[in-house]
Amino acid sequence: MDAPRLSRFTETNAKRAIRVSFEFFPPKTEDMERTLWEAIGRLAPLLPHFVSVTYGAGGSTRERTHATVKRILTETMLTPAAHLTCVAASRAEVDAVIEAYAQAGVRHIVALRGDPVGGIGEKYTPHPGGYRNAADLVSGIKRIADIEVSVSAYPEKHPDSTSVAADIDMLKAKVDAGASRAITQFFFENSVYFRYLDRARAAGIEIPIVPGILPVQNFKQARSFAARTGASVPNWLAARFDGLDDDPATRKLIAAAVAAEQVLDLVDNGVTDFHFYTMNRADLVYAICHLLGLRPGKQQSAHALSDIEIEQA
Ligand SMILES: Cc1cc2nc3c(=O)[nH]c(=O)nc-3n(C[C@H](O)[C@H](O)[C@H](O)COP(=O)(O)OP(=O)(O)OC[C@H]3O[C@@H](n4cnc5c(N)ncnc54)[C@H](O)[C@@H]3O)c2cc1C
Repeated sequence: MDAPRLSRFTETNAKRAIRVSFEFFPPKTEDMERTLWEAIGRLAPLLPHFVSVTYGAGGSTRERTHATVKRILTETMLTPAAHLTCVAASRAEVDAVIEAYAQAGVRHIVALRGDPVGGIGEKYTPHPGGYRNAADLVSGIKRIADIEVSVSAYPEKHPDSTSVAADIDMLKAKVDAGASRAITQFFFENSVYFRYLDRARAAGIEIPIVPGILPVQNFKQARSFAARTGASVPNWLAARFDGLDDDPATRKLIAAAVAAEQVLDLVDNGVTDFHFYTMNRADLVYAICHLLGLRPGKQQSAHALSDIEIEQA
C-alpha cells in the first residue's frame, strides 16, 4: 500500500498538529476597521498561534498599528505580534515604540528593516542615528525587553540582495541576534521554499522558517505585490486566473483551489506551521484552515498517525 498522504490526517495526527498564524494590516477608515474586526472575529475561534499586525511603509502606521495591537490584546484571547521597521527612524524613536509595546504587554515583535523611503529599487540608507538593519534591530529589541522576535525570509531572494547566499547570511545574522522564527515572503512554487529551507539548514540556521501563504483574492493585485517583492508568478498561475477578471465568483473558487493545492502539498512534505497573509479578509483563509483540519475552539490533537494506519489496516 502507498504511504498515506499526511494532509489527509491533519485532524487526527497529534504528533504533527497544524499551527497557523494570521497577518492583518491596520485599518485606515471606519469601514476598513469593521472589515478587519469581522475577519478577526471569524478567524479567532481557529485558535491561531499568534496574529500579526503590519507597520506601514516608513513607520507611517505607527499609531494605527499600536492601536490595533492594543485592541487585540484587550478585546480578544489572541496573542498579537506587532511588526516594527527601523527605516527612517532614530534609535530613540524605535526604542520608544519597543518600550511602549513591552509596557502594553506585547510579547512578540516581527522585526524588519523596511523598504527604502523612496520605495523598492532605491538604495537603502540607514537613518544616521538609527538601527543599521534588521539584525541590529533584533539586538535592540532583545536588549530592551524579553520579547519573542520573528523576522523575514526570502525564498526567492530579496530584491536588494545580490544573491540567495547573501540573504541567508542576513538571516543567520538575525538569528544570531536573537530571532527565533522566520516568516517567508509569499511564494507560489513550493520547490522554491524547500530549496531555500535546505540552504538555510545547511548554513546552520535551525529556527522554524514558516511559509507565508498569500491566498490570491485578487490576481492583478497579487501580481503587483509579487513584482515589488521579488516573488515570481508562474505562468500556470496566470493561466488559472485567465479570463476571470469580470467573474469574481469563479475567481474565488479558483483561488481556494490554488491555495488548497499549495498548502496540502506543503503538509504532505512535512510542513506543520503556516502564516497567512489575510489582507484582512477571512473567507478564503478560513476555508483553507478548515481543509487543514482546524475547527473553531478545538486544539488539534487526538491520535498519532500510526494509530490511524492501524485503524485503517
Ligand atoms: C513576513 C514579512 C513581513 C513584513 N512586514 C512588513 C511591515 O509590517 N512593514 C513594512 O514596511 N515592510 C514589511 N515587510 C517588507 C520588508 O520591510 C521589506 O522587504 C524590506 O525591504 C526589507 O526588510 P527586511 O527586514 O525583510 O530585510 P532584511 O532581512 O534586513 O534584508 C533582506 C535582504 O536584503 C538584502 N539587503 C538588505 N539590506 C541591503 C543593502 N543595504 N544592500 C544590499 N542588500 C541588502 C540582504 O541580502 C537581506 O537578506 C515584510 C516582509 C516580510 C517577508
